[in-house]
Amino acid sequence: MNFIFLGPPGAGKGSLAVKVAEEYKIPHISTGDIFRANIKNQTELGKKVDAIIKSGGLVSDDITCELVKNRLEEADCKNGFILDGFPRTIPQAEMFTSICNDVSVVNFEIADDVVIKRLSTRRVCKECKENYNIITLPPKKEGVCDKCGGELFQREDDKQESILHRMEVYREQTEPLIDFYRKKSQITDIDGATQTSELLSEFKKLFSAK
Ligand code: ADP
Ligand code: ZN
Repeated sequence: MNFIFLGPPGAGKGSLAVKVAEEYKIPHISTGDIFRANIKNQTELGKKVDAIIKSGGLVSDDITCELVKNRLEEADCKNGFILDGFPRTIPQAEMFTSICNDVSVVNFEIADDVVIKRLSTRRVCKECKENYNIITLPPKKEGVCDKCGGELFQREDDKQESILHRMEVYREQTEPLIDFYRKKSQITDIDGATQTSELLSEFKKLFSAK
């Protein structure tokens, strides 16, 4: 059970990945989360990728591939994993194919205007990283995480300018992966506009036999 979650920013990959990881007992590997943790801890890697991530651009393939390769060698990946946000370019997909060819790609389909609305209203907990939405999923108390009491904030790359840039980058560099995996018959489409609460049962229907 190896999964790649593919789709534009704001398609709901991360939210579903958290649930699938719990249900299938496999790790959720989000390259974005790993980069952000490195930025927070001011590691060498974090310093290298900080500016590019804030602007909504992509980290280089070399850095990203190295990171993922190392992560997949860890013991918890033996029985499967969910890659959320990787691969994002054709070279990354080719690298991944060279180390693992047994994968189901879940392609999140969603309209641009839905994505823009979702991302610009998203808030994230500083402490536990839980996601909220000021319109569709507000916390009980404004600005405060229900789970841990942490402060909610807006990601720098969820601001309007970066959102548009991320979507452009997605179109140019990541969308070609849909064809890449369709040709290999490794892709399953899922409707990203589905409510997060219903997505897991959708997913289980698609992948119950595997
Ligand atoms: P999103 O909400 O856009 O899916 P992520 O949390 O997946 O955001 O990623 C945030 C940022 O981290 C990206 O905009 C990019 O700068 C960097 N990043 C994450 N994964 C990759 C990758 N596979 N290749 C290059 N850059 C990446
Ligand atoms: Zn929290």
